Amino acid sequence: MLLDIHRQLIDNGQGQVADYIPALASVDPSHFGLAIVATEGDIHSCGDADVPFTIQSVSKPFTLALVLEQFGEETYERVGTEPSGEAFNSIHLTADGKPFNPMINAGAIAMCGLMHDRYGDEAFDEIRRGYDRFAGSELGFDEDVYQSEISTAHSNRAIAHLMCHGNILSENVDGIVDLYTRQCSLTATATQLATMAATLANVGTNPVTHDSILSPVTVRDVLSLMFTCGMYDYAGKWAVEVGLPAKSGVSGDVLAVVNRQIGIGLYSPPLDDHGNSVRAIKSCIRLTEELGLHAFEFSNQGSSLLSVYLR
Ligand code: GLU
Repeated sequence: MLLDIHRQLIDNGQGQVADYIPALASVDPSHFGLAIVATEGDIHSCGDADVPFTIQSVSKPFTLALVLEQFGEETYERVGTEPSGEAFNSIHLTADGKPFNPMINAGAIAMCGLMHDRYGDEAFDEIRRGYDRFAGSELGFDEDVYQSEISTAHSNRAIAHLMCHGNILSENVDGIVDLYTRQCSLTATATQLATMAATLANVGTNPVTHDSILSPVTVRDVLSLMFTCGMYDYAGKWAVEVGLPAKSGVSGDVLAVVNRQIGIGLYSPPLDDHGNSVRAIKSCIRLTEELGLHAFEFSNQGSSLLSVYLR
């Protein structure tokens, strides 16, 4: 199944690699990795599933998860839960001065603000350790991407200053933007991404290591926000066409969750006009159509028969 999808899409030359920083512009556009991890723990992958890439915005749901675990309802004093209808890096806040949701930059920076207030200089290690547990293995870090991003992070700094003005963030704007930029510069493979997704699918317990990380309430909130806000300005159409909680990043990665069944991780750098990976979106559409994975598909009965089809 995965091999068929890979074969069908490998020659698709549509889309453009992100080029706002040289370190991303120089990635190999032919890389294409797909991986699925089932909640029973079995791993299926093909193509460049072991090639690392910076996770970028796919970090957002995971820092949200760590924040929700530690801060509970207090989290929502710093961030809203509404789709913004605007670009991911929009500087626009809600009428009460909050970021619209945690899946856009403003919201993700606000989440980093909570972690930074609690852990100070240790915040990045705390976040990184959390991600490693979701993945069941250590993520890497791309120093080149980090350096390029931090030296050009003007709009993220502007958003952060605005939130500092509105008391959503504490004074330490530079430290908080640095933390956000570092989490975006962590690297993972499609297989690691699929395991992180499978931890969400498996209600917060990593199905490979059996490490119990998140409470069911945190997972419910994270998946809800991924479902409504996770795919940039394509979120609504994605909900109709694919129907899965998901998050994509500017490096060309996509993570999707089939609740209680599987985690999906994909990587292919060329992006469409919405900033989503062309091959990853097409792969998800095919997977959901053929396996009936859409959350509201009448044939999606949470069957473990899925494993049979994936082989
Ligand atoms: N590092 C990127 C930024 O904050 C992440 C963008 C993304 O993946 O959407 O601009």
